[in-house]
Amino acid sequence: MRILVFDECAFGIVLLFWIGSILRKEYYTRSHRLMLLLQSLILVTVIADIGSGLAENYLNEGRISVILAYLFSYMYFFAHNLLLPVYLLYIYSSIDIWHHFQQKIILPFIWGFLVCTDCVVLVFNQKLFPVFTITQNVKYERGPAIYVFYAVAAVFAFWNLCVLIVNRQYINRHKMITLIFLLAVVSCGLIIQLTNGAYLVECFTVSLALLFFMTMFKRTDAQINPITGALKYTACMDAVGRNLASGKPVSVIFIKIVNNDNLHTYLGMQAHNELLRSITDRAIELFKKCSFDALMYYLENGLFAAVGEDLEDDGVAIVAEELRNIYSDRVSFGRFNIITDVRICVVKCPEDIRDSATLFSLSTNFHRTMPNTRDVHYYRDYKNNREYRIRNDMDEILRRAVENNGFSMYYQPIYSVKENRYVAAEAMIRLQDLEYGHIAPGLFIPASEINGYIHDIGEFVFEDVIRFISQTDLAGLGLRYIEVNLSATQCIEVNLVEKVRSLLEQYDVDPGMLSFELTESAVDINPEIVDANIRQLHDYGIAIALDDYGTGYSNIKRTTDLPINQVKLDKTFVDKIDDPQMCIVIRDTIAMFKEMGKEVLVEGVEQEAVARRFSDLDADLIQGCELMQGFFFCRPLPEKDFVQFIEDHRNSDILSSERE
Ligand code: C2E
Ligand code: MG
Ligand code: MG
Repeated sequence: MRILVFDECAFGIVLLFWIGSILRKEYYTRSHRLMLLLQSLILVTVIADIGSGLAENYLNEGRISVILAYLFSYMYFFAHNLLLPVYLLYIYSSIDIWHHFQQKIILPFIWGFLVCTDCVVLVFNQKLFPVFTITQNVKYERGPAIYVFYAVAAVFAFWNLCVLIVNRQYINRHKMITLIFLLAVVSCGLIIQLTNGAYLVECFTVSLALLFFMTMFKRTDAQINPITGALKYTACMDAVGRNLASGKPVSVIFIKIVNNDNLHTYLGMQAHNELLRSITDRAIELFKKCSFDALMYYLENGLFAAVGEDLEDDGVAIVAEELRNIYSDRVSFGRFNIITDVRICVVKCPEDIRDSATLFSLSTNFHRTMPNTRDVHYYRDYKNNREYRIRNDMDEILRRAVENNGFSMYYQPIYSVKENRYVAAEAMIRLQDLEYGHIAPGLFIPASEINGYIHDIGEFVFEDVIRFISQTDLAGLGLRYIEVNLSATQCIEVNLVEKVRSLLEQYDVDPGMLSFELTESAVDINPEIVDANIRQLHDYGIAIALDDYGTGYSNIKRTTDLPINQVKLDKTFVDKIDDPQMCIVIRDTIAMFKEMGKEVLVEGVEQEAVARRFSDLDADLIQGCELMQGFFFCRPLPEKDFVQFIEDHRNSDILSSERE
C-alpha cells in the first residue's frame, strides 16, 4: 500500500499557489512565466504521483488499470524531469543573467542535450532503457535506467549551485538563502526517496520549498503595481542594479507625465488610474510591435521607466519617438480625450550611466533639468552640457555656495525720470561656483525654491544688503532706498519679519531705506502666510514692490490685495512697446496704477529710444513712467563699482536734456 498523505498535502499547497499566481496574473515577466511553469510542472508531478499511487492501491489487475498506471507514471517522469532544468532557467532569468545563458551557445546546447537524454530514455522505456515497469497486478517497479534520471538531475543541481555561487555578487543575501534553500530541500527529498522507497516525500519537499519561496522570495520579486499593471519602483531598482553590476547593456526610456497632478485632479482617482493603466498597456503593445524586449515599470508620480535590451541607437530612437507620438498629444481612453504633457528621456547603461543612484536621480529630475520641450531627450547629448550639469548638480552647488561664501550682491541703479537722477537701486544676488564659475540667478533661484536653499540665500541677502546700507552714505549719494528681491517662497517663514527687524536693529538701519520686491514663485505656497508677512513688513515701514508685473504669477489682484507701493512692469512690456495694441495696454496700465497711488517702474530698458518712449507716455496727464531700470542706464555692478558709478553720474544728464 503506497502512503499518499505526503502527496495529498503537497497537492493542496501547490494548487493554492498555482491558483493564486493565475488570479494575480503573474505572467508579465519572463521570470514570472518561468515560475508559473515551474508551479504547473510541480502540480502535474503531484497529480501524476497521486494518480499512480491510487492506481497501485485501488485498481485490480487488468489491461486498463495497467495502462492507466503507465500513463500516470509517464506523466510523472515527464513533468518531474523538467523541474530542475526549468528551475535553472528561472535562476538565470530572475537574477538577470539571462544573457549569459543565451550568449554562450554551449549552455543552451548542454541544457537541451540533458533534457533530450531524459526524454529519449523515457520514450524508450523498456524497449532500450528499463526505467520502470508496471506489473500485471498494477505494481510499480524501478529499472536500472532510472539512474540516468538521477544522474541528469544531479548535473542540473550542480549547475544550479554553480550559477548561484559564480554570480553571488549580483544576488542579495535574502535571495541567495532562498534559492539555495530551495535546492537543498528538494535534494533532501530526492535522497530520502532514493534511499528509502517507503517514504514518498519528494513531492512534499518540493511543495515545502515552494511555500518557503513564495513567502520569502516573492516578496521582492512579485512587484506589480496594482494600478498600472507595470512593475514597481523597487523591482526597477533591483533589475537595474543587477544589470549594472553584471555589466549587461540595457536601454532605459523614462516617460514622465508632467501634468500628472493636474490630470489626477481633473479626472478623479478612478479615471486617472485607468489612464495610467492605459499608458502601460499601450507601451507594452508598442514594445511588442517594435520587437523591443523590455519591461515597463511605474516609479510613482506619473513617472514610468521601460528597461529593455540594448538596442542600436536607431532602434531605441524609433521606440522612443513612437512613445512620444502616442502620449505627447491627445490620449483617448474610456470617455475621456485628454492632453498629456509627456517628457521622454533615453539612457543607455552602462555606456551613459554606470550607477543606480545617478540613474534614479536623473529619472526624477530630467523633466526639470533638460529643456522643457516635447522632443525625445537623449542623455548622451546632455551629459557634457554645462547648463544641464549645473541644473543636475544644483543641490551640491548651493550647498557649496552656502558653506564657502559663494554668494555676493550686485546693485543695479534705478533712474527717476522726474528727478533726472538715480534715486534707488535693486540688489541682485550672484553665485560664483568653484567648478562651474558664474551661475545665473535664473538657474539657481527657482531650484533653491524647491530644495529649501532659498532660506539660506535670503539670510545672506538680508544681512549683506543691510550691512551695505549701514556702511554707505546712501543719502549723500542721492539714493533713497535699496530694493531687495523676496521670493514668495521666502515669505512662508513665520519669523521672517522678526529676522529682518533684528538685522535692521543690529546694523542700526532705518526700515525706510529698504524695499522688498515680491516675486511670485512657481511653487505652490499658502498665500495667507505670505500676505500676512508682507503686511507686517509694510506696517514696520518697509516699502513693498510687486516685481515682474504682467508675467502671469504677478497679477492685478495682488496689487489690490496687498499694500503695494510700487509696481515693476516686466521686460515683456518693454519688448512690445512698438506694438500699437500693447502701447494702449501699457499706457492704461500705468495710468491705472498712478491713479491708485502707486509708483510705476519699467524694467529691462536696453535702449535710449525705449526709455524715451516710456518717459513720454501721456498717462492721464501725469508724466509717463517715472522710474526705470535696465542695461541702458547701467548693468548690475559689484558694491564698490556701484558706489563709484553713482558718484560719477550724480550730476550728469541722462534723459532730461533732450526732453526739454
Ligand atoms: P528680477 O528681480 O526681475 O531682476 C531683473 C533681472 O533682469 C536681473 O537678472 C537683471 O540683471 C536683469 N536685467 C536688468 N536690466 C536688464 C536689461 O536691460 N535687459 C535684460 N535683458 N536684463 C536686464 P538676474 O540678476 O539674472 O536675476 C534674475 C532673477 O532672479 C531676478 O529677476 C529675481 O527674480 C531673481 N533674483 C535675483 N537676485 C535675487 C535675490 O537676491 N533674491 C531672490 N529671491 N531672487 C533674486
Ligand atoms: Mg527684482
Ligand atoms: Mg523683475
